[in-house]
Amino acid sequence: MWIYKPDYYDRFRCAAGLCPDSCCQQWEVQVDADAAAYYRSLPGALGDRLREVLRTEDGDTVMTLVDGRCPMWREDGLCRIQSELGESALCRTCRDFPRLTHDYGDFVELGLELSCPEAAKWILSAPYGPLIARQRPGSGVPAYDRETMGLLKASRETALTIISERAIPVGEALALVLLYGCQAQSELDGGETVPFDTAAALSEARELARPGTPSALLDFFLQLELLTPRWEAMLRSPRPARWADGHRALARYLIRRYWLQAVSDYDLYCRVKFITVSCLLIKTLGGDIVSTAQLFSKEIENDADNVDAILDAAYSHPAFTDDRLLGLLLA
Ligand code: SF4
Repeated sequence: MWIYKPDYYDRFRCAAGLCPDSCCQQWEVQVDADAAAYYRSLPGALGDRLREVLRTEDGDTVMTLVDGRCPMWREDGLCRIQSELGESALCRTCRDFPRLTHDYGDFVELGLELSCPEAAKWILSAPYGPLIARQRPGSGVPAYDRETMGLLKASRETALTIISERAIPVGEALALVLLYGCQAQSELDGGETVPFDTAAALSEARELARPGTPSALLDFFLQLELLTPRWEAMLRSPRPARWADGHRALARYLIRRYWLQAVSDYDLYCRVKFITVSCLLIKTLGGDIVSTAQLFSKEIENDADNVDAILDAAYSHPAFTDDRLLGLLLA
């Protein structure tokens, strides 16, 4: 069984009490059944508090937020469970976060979540390099269609090459990724596999582009579920930035995270839209890219309803048409 991970994966360390936006704020942590049973069985003051704040609905147990944060979060920013019982007592969600696992049966890809500020620093500033491969005993059974996965892996490499080409400005590279995504979708649908002609695609992108309106993009995000007042304030008063290397790294993170997921439903096109729209939004909002991208991830990537709304809008929303997006990318 092959395991792939970015080279910074093992260098991640939680900032704990120094974290500027703890994962213990705003989210109701889902507690796995074993941890919930253990917590409820604990004696003493910690057990009493846990019995008070654990809530089970429809078979899922969550930690009820108190004043918008996890009730186990102490004044000094440390976790009460970890401090009193050790790291091994954490529930699976807290033990794993911000580590991501995409298990495809016979291979696994690991990554870090952008919604953690420390992980975001690594994702947006680490030099680009291939994933590190390591073999683990056991073989596993592919949980996917081999031909589809072959096409997706090959097209993801091409998309990563396009976005990493430093001679191409970031906005143009994203426009090319968008057009290349359309071509890769057609290959997935049984179309002929042809080499991607960057120069021809760029002139096609310029011909197709129509003036886009950032306000239409912002309005769309304003009608999604909003978690924090800060996010809403940013959407209402954006401070557009220029394209920068951080946006290139952001696009690589999104391509690596979402491209292969099309193996589940053969829909690559909506994920490519998600990638381009996300980069456009973060550029449009401006501010420090690490904190803007981290908040974006917390608000959007970590909310399945918001992600689904964007994937659906890829086909129907007037702000998400190819010509409008190309207009914004090439502006
Ligand atoms: S968000 Fe990241 S750095 Fe902050 S407390 Fe959570 S895991 Fe640690």
